[in-house]
Amino acid sequence: MTQTAAAPRPPEAAVPLLEARALTKHFAVHHPGRAVRRQAAGGRRRGPAPAVHAVEEVSLTLPQAGITAVVGESGSGKSTLARMLARLITPTSGKLLLDGAEVPVVTRGRRAYARDVQLVLQDPFSSLNPVHGVRYHLERPLRLHGLNGQGASLEEAMTGLLERVALTPAEQFLSKYPHELSGGQRQRVAIARALAVRPRVLLADEPVSMLDVSIRLGVLNLLGDLRERDGLAILYITHDIASARYLAEAIMVMYAGQVVESGPAEVVTDSPAHPYTKLLLSAAPDPDRAEPPSLAGSGAPPSLVAPPGGCRFHPRCPHAMAVCAVSSPPGTELAAGHVSACWLHATGLDAAQAQPLAAADELKSSAPSSAPEGGEET
Ligand code: SF4
Repeated sequence: MTQTAAAPRPPEAAVPLLEARALTKHFAVHHPGRAVRRQAAGGRRRGPAPAVHAVEEVSLTLPQAGITAVVGESGSGKSTLARMLARLITPTSGKLLLDGAEVPVVTRGRRAYARDVQLVLQDPFSSLNPVHGVRYHLERPLRLHGLNGQGASLEEAMTGLLERVALTPAEQFLSKYPHELSGGQRQRVAIARALAVRPRVLLADEPVSMLDVSIRLGVLNLLGDLRERDGLAILYITHDIASARYLAEAIMVMYAGQVVESGPAEVVTDSPAHPYTKLLLSAAPDPDRAEPPSLAGSGAPPSLVAPPGGCRFHPRCPHAMAVCAVSSPPGTELAAGHVSACWLHATGLDAAQAQPLAAADELKSSAPSSAPEGGEET
């Protein structure tokens, strides 16, 4: 059975601004030693080439004036997904649609696409060139995309951008260098640079994770304002499910390259269905809890070169059943738009499939070695 990647639905039946259908990305693993050995063996390859299975069949829709959050730990594939949506890397398979029209895989037309879809990176300290001032960072995209001569003068366009991200007085910020700005101010300049080309979609990849806690809220509120004021479609990528609930209308939870749960933000956070979502929520900051939030002690995400068979979460899952180790769970719609890919929600499992995984493993190891494969368990 194949996993059905769950996708948040747009609030209305309108064509979404940006849509991904079953996007998949596998990165080939290049190992110099292996190439030398293969050459020695006459160029013959033993078995399929190893690959990092970074993203598997992920579908999502980004409606106009909507914020969708993608939540997951490091290595869950969220950033790879954002880079595919920004067309910075080419998907292994799957489709991308802008305004309902398929975006070609070829690099031609990339500049026009970048005008509609902009990516804001996580690290405001490295995403701005330290030898250039704010003026350079804003002027360059305006000139590259030929937007400096439309209506407002270049100067007005740049000060207008800084005012949109609440960096005022704008004239003073234009002459500053990145090292003269705080982390929050740098991230605002990075957002202003993205806005320079008048995008309709903003892909924000962990935009506040490297900022002090005290200034995160300001940047999150800025993203909310851009959605309200300018009708931007925003993809908010984060490992912090609490901030996703604060900002987004829809949440998509990813684990080891796959979508495990998705739905309206309040439903996913108030009534989480998937064990991994529950784990993320248990590690979210909570003023009523004495101990600091942490995922330590709950296992680690698997290697994506050889991910576990069946449900990829099964080695960490306290509810894992025999079926979880061999078959990928299908997506089950639990309520309108709320989908969870977990065997706990499936019906029709037989007793052998539903037995706890530890018990199933014990049974297997105690079975006589001469027992026929697939024979009846006792
Ligand atoms: Fe995965 Fe099974 Fe746990 Fe569900 S119960 S999360 S399918 S291991």
